[in-house]
Amino acid sequence: MSNIFTIAVLPGDGIGPEVMKQTIKILEKIEKYLNTKIIINEYAVGGIAINKYGNPLPKKTLHGCENSNAILFGSVGGPEWDHLSLNKRPEKGALLKLRKHFNLFANIRPTFFYKNLNSLSPIKEKILNKGFDIICIRELTGGIYFGLPNGRKGKGINEYAFDTEIYSRLEIERIAYIAFNIALKRKKKICSVDKANVLNTSILWREVIVNISKQYPSVKLEHMYIDNIVMQLMKKPSQFDIILCPNLFGDIISDQCAMITGSVGNLPSASFNQNFFGLYEPAGGSAPDIAGKNIANPIAQILSLSMLLEYSLKDKYSSQKIKNAIKKTLDLGYRTKDLLTNSINEKIVTTDDMGTLIMESII
Ligand code: NAD
Repeated sequence: MSNIFTIAVLPGDGIGPEVMKQTIKILEKIEKYLNTKIIINEYAVGGIAINKYGNPLPKKTLHGCENSNAILFGSVGGPEWDHLSLNKRPEKGALLKLRKHFNLFANIRPTFFYKNLNSLSPIKEKILNKGFDIICIRELTGGIYFGLPNGRKGKGINEYAFDTEIYSRLEIERIAYIAFNIALKRKKKICSVDKANVLNTSILWREVIVNISKQYPSVKLEHMYIDNIVMQLMKKPSQFDIILCPNLFGDIISDQCAMITGSVGNLPSASFNQNFFGLYEPAGGSAPDIAGKNIANPIAQILSLSMLLEYSLKDKYSSQKIKNAIKKTLDLGYRTKDLLTNSINEKIVTTDDMGTLIMESII
């Protein structure tokens, strides 16, 4: 063993602990292929941490994350905590706070298909067969979700609410560099999303991205307005490889990409700061409607571990082993409830079974 690598594991609420349990099984199996000793430290986050410590992101959790090499995050939130003010809720009080604390400005969400799950998609098969393998790169710590001032003022019919969309040159440049560097390792193609026909922030966004692109002459850059790309994604998704978006547009586009694949339960995501410190999590939420029933799909959470191995441990080989094991399990017809396509070869399995089957397929 040459190194020690510490992972802060934050299962959170709803289906979080159920799918995280499967991921830890996989991590324990894959560890024997790694040249690194993995230390796993588990911490409370979200609603469960509010109930236990009165804080969605307790100091112990934050310190634990600070002393780790990466964070493996489940999901947070649920109706039990919806009555709290926004800042005290699990989503803003824990996840958004973590993103801000570690300056995780770059969100990377790969969306792709497993061929035999094509029929889950709301899109026609003849369109999908042309290919769908997109990475959505979303700016995560700027824009309208964080811009100040925001709030509500006035009373009665004169009451109004306001948010501020704001982007600095630095914020746009650093996300652009991440996108261009990832593009170099793929099809060398980026579509940047904005609304430069209306918004000042979008005019600056486009200007900065064009400037950075001059350092990457082999990467083909195009621009699309947000209203056009939502249509193009339905019409011809195969035209896209990397989609680069400001925060708000990325929130929308990444969920649209997820839905094209048919199940949010299959999609991982990673968020990075300048030093490539990463938080890895499923694309979906805590799914309170199915929590505790042992029916959630653990694949997104397991794939977030695969991303951790690829990006933080720089171990593409082990990362690919996990992806191969998932593909093999799906090829054998095993499905959690959300993945059923009504084909005769399918066998419905629980969250626990799916985790075990994937673990056993790692060779
Ligand atoms: P959600 O993603 O939790 O659920 C949307 C739908 O997708 C539900 O029908 C759910 O059952 C299904 N789904 C999600 N993940 C699944 C999985 N792994 N397997 C099978 N089905 C799955 O979104 P929501 O209902 O809008 O939000 C529920 C709660 O989660 C809210 O409190 C929300 O704020 C929170 N949330 C948290 C995060 C996060 O922690 N990163 C992200 C989004 C939403």
